[in-house]
Formats: sequence, C-alpha cells, structure tokens
Amino acid sequence: MKVQVNEGSNEFVQVDIDGQTCSCGGRRCAHLEMATDVVRDHGRRWRWLILSALHKELRRGDVVAARHWAGWLAHCDGPSAPLEYLRKIWSEETVDLDLAVWLHGQTANVADGVARFCAAVKVWELPDWWPVFQEWSECDAGVALHSFGAAATRLVQALAADDEAELTAARDLALMDLTATGRLTFQQAEVFRTRYASQRFESEDFVLAMLLADRLPRAESARSAGAEVDVPPHWTDGSTLLLPPPYAYDYHSHFGKARMRAWMAENPGRGFRFGVDTSPVDLRWAGGLVPLFWRVQAWQQGGRAALDGLQWHELDVETSALQRFEAWCDWWPEATL
Ligand SMILES: [Zn+2]
Repeated sequence: MKVQVNEGSNEFVQVDIDGQTCSCGGRRCAHLEMATDVVRDHGRRWRWLILSALHKELRRGDVVAARHWAGWLAHCDGPSAPLEYLRKIWSEETVDLDLAVWLHGQTANVADGVARFCAAVKVWELPDWWPVFQEWSECDAGVALHSFGAAATRLVQALAADDEAELTAARDLALMDLTATGRLTFQQAEVFRTRYASQRFESEDFVLAMLLADRLPRAESARSAGAEVDVPPHWTDGSTLLLPPPYAYDYHSHFGKARMRAWMAENPGRGFRFGVDTSPVDLRWAGGLVPLFWRVQAWQQGGRAALDGLQWHELDVETSALQRFEAWCDWWPEATL
C-alpha cells in the first residue's frame, strides 16, 4: 500500500505490511509502523489520531480528506463508526437541525454525511452564535448573570448544579415545550432524545437553551450545498494512507500530547497563548474554548481566507474581546496535558 512520505507531502512510499518493508529504506520507519498498526491492529495506537483527523477535516470542510479518515475509522472501529461520530459532534460544530435529522435518518450514509457535514455552516461563521455562547459561558462560570428567559432557566440551573435527575427532567420538559410550540419538529426532538439516551453528545443542552430563549442563530443555507465533490476511490479503498496532518495533533491523543509537551519543554513558560508562535503545534482547528475563540476572531476579521491563511500567532486578537473571554475562560490547552 501507499503511505504519505511526510505530513502534507504529495509523495508516497510503498509499504509491504506482510514483508515488513518500506521503499523509504528505513528499518521500522514511521510509515511501516503506522500502516501496520492501522491495517493489522485496527489502530490500536493510532485510532485516536485517525478520529482527530476526521474531526478536524469535517471542521475544516475538506470532503476528500474527511472521507479518507472516515474510511480508516470504519476499518478500525466498524462500518457504523463514522456516522455515529458525525451524529455525536453535529451540535459542537453547527446549529444545523436539518443535518442532525438527516444523520439520524434511514437514508444516512458516510459519503453524503461527510459531504453535508463539510458543507454545513460552522458555529464560528454565524455572527449571532458567539455572543449567546459567551453569555451562556459567563452564566456557567458565575462571572456575569444573563437571562436566557424563564424557560431556559431550569436547564441552566440543573447544569450548574450538576444534578442528573433534575437535568433529565429539565431536558424532557424543554423538548415537550419546544415541540408543543412548534420550535422543534417531532423528528428534531427525537434527535435530542437519541443523543441523550446514548450519552454521546456535545452541545445539545446549549442548543436547547438557545431555542428556549429564541436565540438560536439562523443557520444560513449551507456554503456549498449540493456541490458534488469527486473523491477518487484510492482515498477510501484502503490502498492509501495519509499521515495525520499537524492540526490533528492536539490534547485528545497520546501522540498530540507528546508533541505539545515537547514544545513546552523547548519553550518554558510561554504556553499556547495568542500571539505565541507554537509551531509545529497547530491548534487552529482543535476543539476546546481557546481554539474556538481563535476561529471566531479569525472569521470575524477575514472569513475563510483568514482561517486558512493565518498561523496561530499571526492573528491580531481584539483586546476587549480577549479581556471578556479571559474573564470566564479558565481553560488553556496546556492545562489538560
Ligand atoms: Zn518508510
């Protein structure tokens, strides 16, 4: 099989897993190690990085790369794994209820699911999303009081109290209320029930709170809805393996943490703060609050071109926005290493 020579390279080496040889000539090289682990051991060591790469490409909207990693995730975790993962993360990346319903429907499949997810407008692209999220987070952190209205208050309080029974009751009530008043369709409400029952969900409570407070941003029609992206078969048929891109290495995986720890050892006392050149660590597409704030700022300042073109340290973060953010965000990437 073919394995990418270096991250981001257009060149590939030929790896023979049975014979344990690689055309790069190295013994026990990274190509052979990763290919053997992914293909033969179903990603015992590398599956978290495969999952991370899939998430980042869905976030970035790269259909071909996302299909590639979805294919390998299916190899590692079974054919239902990619769609199940898309269902889990829809509310982290979008407010697209139609996407959520489609992903939970009978006709859902990986190819179309990846294409739809990539095309969906992401939360940092919605001008009305961050202000509400910031208020919600400030409430949660206790640094400011905002009203999401009486209907959302029970949900907010149950979350703050971390009371499981009260939270279940608040979610049930919210779903009944939203369905009864026509703000959620029956199918949309079923998505929330399915996610809660699975215990695999991300920002569903925040979406419910936004709905209850009538502050859910209108998800503008998808950026490239209906656009057909041709994915050549070799990216998904197991004959080719990319190396995970640099932005796949974050604090969610052993290998990502190792890179970040190495950077911290070489740059003592600096931390992954805005304006700091963190290369080769690339957190622009990572999860968590700090990278999310970075994307919100980048999008506001330059749209897609800024997100793609600016390095982490090149973004001029607006001072007043940063001050307000730092008042409630006590989480920085290095804190989880
Ligand atoms: Zn090699």
